[in-house]
Amino acid sequence: MKNPAGAECALYYEDFARGAALQECRAARQPGSAEWRPDVCAGCAVPGILKANGSARLVIEISIARGLLRRRPRVQVRASCSAHGGPLTDPYTGCQACNAEADDLLRRALD
Ligand SMILES: [Zn+2]
Repeated sequence: MKNPAGAECALYYEDFARGAALQECRAARQPGSAEWRPDVCAGCAVPGILKANGSARLVIEISIARGLLRRRPRVQVRASCSAHGGPLTDPYTGCQACNAEADDLLRRALD
C-alpha cells in the first residue's frame, strides 16, 4: 500500500472506504517510541529496506523520535533476522548468515 509519503510500504495500512478514516503503521515499535502519525512516513527508511530485502526472516522495529515543535519526527529502523538475530549491519542487503546459507545452497545445487 502506498504510504502518505507516496512510497509502497507493506507495513502501512489505510482504509478510507465507507467513511472510515483509518491510517496506521504496522511496524513494531521499540519501547519509548513516539506515536506514529502520517508525516512520519516521509523520513522513514522502511519502504526502501522492504524493497531491497525480501527475506521472510527480516524483522523490522522502528523507533520514532519525539520531534521538536514543527519538526518532522525522525524514524530509526532496527532490522534483525528471525533466525540469526541482529541488528543487521546493512538492512538493505540483509542477514549475512542467511546470504551465506543461500550461497551455499546455490553452490551445492550447481555442483
Ligand atoms: Zn539470518
